[in-house]
Amino acid sequence: MTVRTDTHVAAALQAQDLSVRLGGTVVLDHVSLSLPAGRWTCIVGPNGAGKSTLLKALAGLLAYRGQVLLLDRPLQAWSRRERARTLAWLGQAEPGADDLTVWDVAMLGRVPHQPWLGTPSAADRAAVRQALQATQAWAWRHRPLGELSGGQRQRALLARLLAVQAPVLLMDEPLAHLDPPHQADWLALVRRLTAQGHTVVSVLHELNLALRADALLMLDAGRVVHQGPSGEPATHRALEAVFEHRIAVRALPGDGAGWVVVPRVAGQPEGPLACT
Ligand code: ADP
Ligand code: MG
Repeated sequence: MTVRTDTHVAAALQAQDLSVRLGGTVVLDHVSLSLPAGRWTCIVGPNGAGKSTLLKALAGLLAYRGQVLLLDRPLQAWSRRERARTLAWLGQAEPGADDLTVWDVAMLGRVPHQPWLGTPSAADRAAVRQALQATQAWAWRHRPLGELSGGQRQRALLARLLAVQAPVLLMDEPLAHLDPPHQADWLALVRRLTAQGHTVVSVLHELNLALRADALLMLDAGRVVHQGPSGEPATHRALEAVFEHRIAVRALPGDGAGWVVVPRVAGQPEGPLACT
């Protein structure tokens, strides 16, 4: 998979004073952030914090005030086609396309590469095959999306995102409906993507997997409350705070073994893990 990110660009995406109102309510409130290129940043926060809205604004999918820069250029300065080749998008619980086969859904990711009314090229077919194999969706490529389980459907949509071969990938709750082995596959996929120079920005509720990201960005009530490396104690404390201390981040036994998020249930012990 080729990556066209200019290696001199430090930030894949930047927001400056980004605000969004939906239905008369301020959903994002003067958000400023910088998401480093070639890294995986995970956006976390409670339900309704504005995570999906932030991701959509960064992708240019809704109206906003302020500035969004993709690879150092304002979103408006990109042509739609060029932008669609550069930034790939997987939405939260995307509806529709039930009549399309898995192959055709993945081929939609190639539209920004194809001439108007053109037929898929050998490169388009190769990209789709590669994407379907990477998500283990190849075996059922001829089946309509509407006949698949929730997890299979999610993997077909993930293949569409991969088929774009964009340097910047935004994913909103990509693990929804995925079983644990496919969640682990997704983690390996993200690691391969960043090793190749891609930038991954994901919203996740699976906090144990979010702690494997390079950095966490925490949103609460439309504001960024913390951004930092996932291994830092300050990030762990902020994560506990943003979820109202209903969870705790604990070190796994052994040097460099990582961290685990445990629920805090009143009156019940947390278990034998050491404190960070
Ligand atoms: P998250 O992804 O963090 O759960 P969202 O970005 O989806 O949160 O939503 C943030 C807030 O904006 C929520 O309070 C939600 O109810 C509100 N919201 C989302 N979409 C709309 C809309 N179309 N009209 C009015 N309010 C909306
Ligand atoms: Mg959401």
